[in-house]
Parts: sequence; structure tokens; C-alpha cells
Amino acid sequence: MQIRVGVSANDLTTRTHATASFRSPARLAVVPMARKGAAGAPAVVEPGQLLVVSVSGSSLALAGLSPPLAGRWTAVRINPQEAQAPVCLESLERAQAGGRRPPCYRGAFEVALAGGRLRVVLVCDADGYVEGVLGSEVPAGYRLEAIKAQAVAARTYGLRPRIDHSGEGFNVCDSYLCCQNFNGNAARINAGYRRAIEETSEEVLVYQDRPILALFSSNAGGHTENYENCFSDPLTDRFPPEPIPYLKAVPEGKLPAGFPGEPALRSLWHMPGPQTCDAWAPQFRWRLAMPADALEAHMHHVVERMGADPQFAPFIAPPPSGRFGHIDRFEVGKRGASGVAITLAVHTSAGTWLVTKELVIRSLFENPDLKLTRLRSARIFFDHGRDRLGLLSELVVSGLGSGHGVGLQQTGAQGLAVAGAGYRQILHHYYSGARVERMPASGV
Ligand SMILES: [Zn+2]
Repeated sequence: MQIRVGVSANDLTTRTHATASFRSPARLAVVPMARKGAAGAPAVVEPGQLLVVSVSGSSLALAGLSPPLAGRWTAVRINPQEAQAPVCLESLERAQAGGRRPPCYRGAFEVALAGGRLRVVLVCDADGYVEGVLGSEVPAGYRLEAIKAQAVAARTYGLRPRIDHSGEGFNVCDSYLCCQNFNGNAARINAGYRRAIEETSEEVLVYQDRPILALFSSNAGGHTENYENCFSDPLTDRFPPEPIPYLKAVPEGKLPAGFPGEPALRSLWHMPGPQTCDAWAPQFRWRLAMPADALEAHMHHVVERMGADPQFAPFIAPPPSGRFGHIDRFEVGKRGASGVAITLAVHTSAGTWLVTKELVIRSLFENPDLKLTRLRSARIFFDHGRDRLGLLSELVVSGLGSGHGVGLQQTGAQGLAVAGAGYRQILHHYYSGARVERMPASGV
């Protein structure tokens, strides 16, 4: 089973490049490609030498080859001549243990012209891809059964991400902002990851004979969430989308009466030792105090920017005045099954702004002064500090969990594994109705 991974630029939002530089301790064969496969005699990059691919007019420019490629080409395949040799992409850097470094991969690359820039695709076996995802996503030291559950989910996601990338020529991209985090797969992985991948080799989650949309997040704060309460339809942008039968909210243990109403969320947040499988994790609850002046310094810009961004604009409804005044208070309207905020009213002196959808609500709080990109989750409640005139002086946001909470949650899977659950039980808990099946190499 092979998988094609689109490599993002350093910003993790664009997937085309001005140049791409490759270096490997092995010899690299560079094969010119035409639409129907290999098209010309390969050239060679000697071990340790740098291959630089850039754009020259309507074809690729390749430096570092000996001898140079004859002819003009719009796509090449780069094959390391030793199967396990790493190939490092030196034109990029990724956050990794020990700082930012060029990512290194095992597999072959395809580099092609795309709208005057370069598209870079790693072609590797699916288990090699899963290695990279586990290395980026799962803390070392998790129980084997929890890692196995994550391995099957990651392999499934690679075959069927939420966003269809087939028009770009790959299955999945490497950015956690779009698909799942993949910072290369050449580092030596620990024995637990290796064993989890081998013991689940070729296994994927299937519903009605198709790989499922295996969404996962870090910590669900006591209860997972229904797909339709957090995501838009990826094709039509419609919100809410059609529900997905196997992405249904499930409780993670004993919850206070009245859950997910706000009093129950407050009581869960304050409870010593909640009886849920994810409460052991530090992400389970968090609290953020924001001075009103820091909030006001940024939120009106954020609202303006979101209003001009087609991705966010449909989810931001301004008051009749169209202005963002002084903030008076925040009020969650509709909540999902986990208590996730689906609508949020921001009452200001110029009227009430209505903000809809989990990621939009989290992103509304972007604040460089507080070094905040977005809230960790939208399972939130608010406390308002007032000055002597009754004006907002401080906002305290309390939250449960980290991430959207749809599908498998990593810390909950670990909690279930500690309590004795096997990986199939864990997967059935989070993706009810989906089956684990072996998908042979030719099956996808
Ligand atoms: Zn993607």
C-alpha cells in the first residue's frame, strides 16, 4: 500500500515551492517524467551532493546533476538508490525535537511544475507514512494498545483525509492545519511505535467498504463531539453538514448531572479527580485570564480580517451598526454534546456580534500580546471581571480539553488502554459502526 504525501512550505498553509533542495547519503537517480511515467534516461546526484530544483520559464531547472539531464522537463522523480536511505529536503525546516531542522524522509519524491511553482510529493509505503505521523503526534511512552489504535486511525486518515487532495496529485498533505502532522519519517522510531505499526500492518477502518474519515484530536475534556457540530461540509462549506454515522459523540466516563449544560461544565472543570478516561492528562482543563484592554486591542481587527476571509466570513454576523464597540460580555448560545460552543455572542457597545462554529470561535481569540493563536478548545465558559463603573476589566476563559474532540482522542485512548482495553475496542468506542479490516496493497 503506497501513499502520496504533499509537502507544504514552511508556513504549513501553501503546498507549492519556489525551489526544492534535496540531499542524501545515498546516490539519487533523477528520472524525467512524462504524463505516462518515466520518459527519459536518468541522471545521478552523487552521495552528499545537493540537488536544487527550481523553475526556469515553462520547465524545471536542475542543478547538482552529473551529467545534466538532456532535454526540458516539467516533472522528475527522485529515487534514492538505497531503499532505507534518508533524503533531506534542505529548502525547508520543520519544528522537531532540538529545534527547527530540514525534514528527512524515506521514500521517493516527485517534483512537478504547478502554476509557475513546484509541487513536491513524497511517495512512500503507508506504514512509512504512519511512522512519521506517530512520531509527530503520539507521545513516546503511551501504552502499545493506544499507539496501535492511533496507528490504524493515522493510516486510515492518510488514505482518506477530510480535504480531497486528488486534484493536487496526492492523497494527503503533511500539515496539521489541514490533514495530520507529518514532519518526516527518517528518524529512528522507538520500539513501541515500530511494534504498533507491524502488529496493525495494512489495517484500516472501513464503513460501507470505504476507508472512514478517521478524525482525531488530543483531549476531549470528558466527552467527544458529533462531527456536524464542529465541521463544515468540505465540498459545499455548508454548516452544519450531514452527520457522519461513525463520528458520534461518546461520554468518556462519569459526568455531572445536566451535562453538557454550563453549570455541569463548571462542575466538571472544578471537580477533583473526575472519573473519565482522559482526566489524567494535563490538557483536560485549562484557564486563561485576559485583561480587557488586551482583548480590545486585537479582537476588532480579528473580526475585520475574518469578515474579509471567505473561509470565515459566513460564520461572522455583525450587528446592524457593523461596528465592534467596547466589549461588554461573551455568551455561549448553542452547545454540542460535549459542551462545545456552536454559537457565541459577543455583546459590545455597538451591538452584538454572532460567531458560529468551533474553529472560528477559537480563532476569534487570536492575540499576539498574549501569544495566542487560538483557544485550545471551544468547550468553554466565561467569567467577567468588572471595574467600579461596571465595565469589563478582565475576561477569564475556562476550557475543557484540547482540539475539536471529534473521533478518537489520544489521551482518552491512552486512558482506555491503561484500563485494559485492546486497540480494536478503543477504535470501536470512538468510531462506532466502523470495522477494522486489512486492506491489501492493491486495495486502494
Ligand atoms: Zn491536507
